[in-house]
Amino acid sequence: MSEPPSWFDDDAVEGAPSGAPAIADMDWPALQAAVSTCTRCTLCETRQQAIPGRGDEQATWLVLDAMPGKAEDAEGYQYAGDPGYLLDNMLKAVQQSTGQGAYLTSLVKCHADRPATEDELQACRPYLQRELELTGAKVILATGHAAAKGLLGSAARNRIMLHGAIPVVATYHPAGLLEKPEDKAKAWQDLCLAKAAHAGRR
Ligand code: SF4
Repeated sequence: MSEPPSWFDDDAVEGAPSGAPAIADMDWPALQAAVSTCTRCTLCETRQQAIPGRGDEQATWLVLDAMPGKAEDAEGYQYAGDPGYLLDNMLKAVQQSTGQGAYLTSLVKCHADRPATEDELQACRPYLQRELELTGAKVILATGHAAAKGLLGSAARNRIMLHGAIPVVATYHPAGLLEKPEDKAKAWQDLCLAKAAHAGRR
């Protein structure tokens, strides 16, 4: 079993007013507000807006992107546009939705035209940790290699990995599936694997 990441800190938010709760103590409104105004890392300089997670606050599936893309940065929500519609359909196929069961978020909440650095991943990680705690997610579906690798350090499809005690299944990003629909069959296998991992934790 992999070790729990060492970067799960309980830092207060950079620039937050004194008396603001540490991230580890935040409720949903405080967390969303903190992300929206966050300056904990240099990605705050490249974003149009920080993108908090969205979906069921008591989700058992947490769907993870690496970083908001240009569309998310412009629209202001996770998994925007056609990839978001495809993801909705993928989740529907395993009886999940953002209305019930699924929560969508990213490793870092701010967009850049480059991958996040290790420092940026670490700076943003306490928000993801709090999202995992508040939802009580039972399985993580990491979409795209960068999401899985950024979460775990190394990752591969077609097997159940662990983030602490939470099973992680890596699959294709829906934007990639729109470009290569022939990978949808393998993405379906991944969803079935995640469904099995989820069922095993009920
Ligand atoms: Fe804050 Fe995360 Fe955005 Fe960095 S990526 S500024 S830590 S919200």
